[in-house]
Amino acid sequence: MNLSRKLFFSGFLLLVALASHSPLQAAGDKDVAGVVLSFDDTYVKQWYDYFGQRTDNDEVKATFFVSYWHTLSDAEIDKLRLLRAKGHEIGNHTYSHKGVAGDYNFDPSRVQEYLGDQIIPSLLNMRADGFSPVSFSYPSGERNEVYDAAVRQYFPYLRTTFTDVSREMFQTGEIFHGPNDQYEVLAGDGIDNSYNNPVAEIEAALLRAKTNNEIVTVYAHRILADGSPDADHPYGIRGSKLDRLIVAAKEMGLKFYTFEEAWKIGNQNGPVSNTNITVSSSGGSGSVNAYIIFLLSLVSLLKLAPGIAKRLFRH
Ligand SMILES: [Zn+2]
Repeated sequence: MNLSRKLFFSGFLLLVALASHSPLQAAGDKDVAGVVLSFDDTYVKQWYDYFGQRTDNDEVKATFFVSYWHTLSDAEIDKLRLLRAKGHEIGNHTYSHKGVAGDYNFDPSRVQEYLGDQIIPSLLNMRADGFSPVSFSYPSGERNEVYDAAVRQYFPYLRTTFTDVSREMFQTGEIFHGPNDQYEVLAGDGIDNSYNNPVAEIEAALLRAKTNNEIVTVYAHRILADGSPDADHPYGIRGSKLDRLIVAAKEMGLKFYTFEEAWKIGNQNGPVSNTNITVSSSGGSGSVNAYIIFLLSLVSLLKLAPGIAKRLFRH
């Protein structure tokens, strides 16, 4: 680790010390702050090459939402078994990646067709290979309440996507949830090359999770070696970026949750109806943002991350 990285993490240690005394976390609350790292589609070899070799699986967990299960080779399915054995979660991402909007036009009369084509056959394929998925992510994040209710009969834990380019990730309450929240679906923001969420911005989101005792969900697709010709593929994250995020989360003392584990942190009164979703009720409050901006601007003053606060104050 070079000097600037050491300084950067020293800054984080300072922030974590401040965050752990946050006025926003009620005294006596159990510390559940954490992150969900999730990956979609079929990039089993890349996922295994990255996570299969790690020696810190007791600490660092991820969730892999797999589509096109019927096209996987035996070797790929074995790799998913090995990932599962290391504590990672294997979820479902439909049979052939059809979108509720793009392919089904949100049509309520086509729900049974969707279940028959996209949900049930892929669940059966996974079961035939010894997997019992309970979590599901929607291709392209396309969903609505009618489809949620149908899919939930097969996969109780649903992940969608959320992004808002006008806000920093830490200001996006939609991707955070905590023990006091009720939800029927959880959303993640993208950390692939194309999502315009640089490391510093994602680290600020991790900091909010720590400060506010929340869990933040992110997702990616490919995991790319820095030297590979694909390193800048829009739908992939470089291994070096993922390394930095994992180190930062560890430095902050965040837990790495599988999606199933993260889901069970909230919803203590059972799911509410979709029309009453109140994810991160505390998330959008000005005091939370003000406190995190204060912490980040402190880093800026220390010249550890001079770019962050400057960008934040523009919003
Ligand atoms: Zn996908």
